[in-house]
Amino acid sequence: MAVSKVFLKQNRKKRLEQGHPWVYPSEIETLEGDPQGGDIIHIVNHAGHFLAQGFYNPRSQLIIRVVTYSEVEVDETLFFDKIEQAWQRRQWLLPKITSCRIVHGEADFLPGLIVDKYEDVLVVQILSLGMEVRRRWIFEALKRIFNPRGIYERSDVSVRRLEGLEERAGFVEEPFDTHVTLRENGLSILVDVADGQKTGYFFDQRENRAALKPLMTGWGTRRGIQVQADGQPIDKKGKEIRNPFWDGAEVLDCFSHTGSFMLHACLYGAKKVTCLDVSEKAIEMAKGNALLNGFLHRTEFIAANAFDFLREQVKDKKTWDIVILDPPAFAKNRQALQGAIRGYKEINLQGMKLVRNGGILVTASCSYHLSAALFLTMLQEAARDAHKVLRLIEFRRAGLDHPVLLGSEETDYLKFAIYEVFDR
Ligand code: SAH
Repeated sequence: MAVSKVFLKQNRKKRLEQGHPWVYPSEIETLEGDPQGGDIIHIVNHAGHFLAQGFYNPRSQLIIRVVTYSEVEVDETLFFDKIEQAWQRRQWLLPKITSCRIVHGEADFLPGLIVDKYEDVLVVQILSLGMEVRRRWIFEALKRIFNPRGIYERSDVSVRRLEGLEERAGFVEEPFDTHVTLRENGLSILVDVADGQKTGYFFDQRENRAALKPLMTGWGTRRGIQVQADGQPIDKKGKEIRNPFWDGAEVLDCFSHTGSFMLHACLYGAKKVTCLDVSEKAIEMAKGNALLNGFLHRTEFIAANAFDFLREQVKDKKTWDIVILDPPAFAKNRQALQGAIRGYKEINLQGMKLVRNGGILVTASCSYHLSAALFLTMLQEAARDAHKVLRLIEFRRAGLDHPVLLGSEETDYLKFAIYEVFDR
């Protein structure tokens, strides 16, 4: 059967040629053939020159999603090769990595496919019709490349409906224990891939968590603690200090989920970390992870709504050396953006107020509708209203296993900033 073909309009913006991996219905001039949803279709320009091949789905606003810029046959072998290349890229950039994102959708030229590796377990999320009809190819390739203990599907996300797909979650084949202890930056982190948020863990902040390392010490000396010639630290009154973490930071980790930031803070020498999450289950998980890594005595856990908690702490004049804010995506779509910005501003404003003069605010947003520029504007407004001056230490994005395609801002969603906070 001949492959169908779409001719794109002559006067469209050349988005596809600039690296954007989707075609919208408004860009199409004519359609040749009788393609079914999920079929491969050739994309050509107005003059008939071949541009790419992609998945066709007439029910979706993303009517075509680019799979390849070559004219090769899109078959099971091509899928195998693409997944293998994606894994090789991770092994190259992150040597010895055992848990990470293996396939990051469009940015790995596998539109609508997410694969995360949790040690010997794989978690798959299928978000496009083109991938859905090729499920078998995906699972066969994953079994051949990784020989996993098990594969779990987490396609229980509402965006699937935009592709005309039902939500779905469960074991791909035989059931297995879905608890996995993954290794990250030398820590052990227990997650449940069947139950956690997204696919169970957020690998995209791996390098950002590691960036906390230099921040966690140097606080005791700032508070006037001195080290005597024999190595004994003493406070301003000359009293001996017994706590081995006397120089560590006091940290508030908001939206802690698995507690991954808390674990890194402790690993890098924090004196005390307060973990906050609205979900009791998340708090239990974070506590379990503190125990697993031997950090329980340096941590405390609070199940509460961050919006209320932060405001109360400000009212009670509580302060920390470091405040970490890693909220969920408040803006799930463009319409929700204004409300989301108000939410981000509120937690950042209160969070800044809780930082001691000269302390640190670590703040993130994983909502791609909130661009980096809008994120910075939001922070400026929060700083203005909180009477603070912020000085940047580092601005970071997602980790190396979450590639970003130039020309596709949708793949560049994570903002992560570390600021010193000064009173004004
Ligand atoms: N920092 C985490 C990821 C955060 S995910 C990590 O490294 O793993 C977002 C978390 O925010 C979820 O655990 C969710 O339960 C929590 N959350 C959502 N709304 C909240 C609110 N209003 N107050 C406190 N926690 C909230």
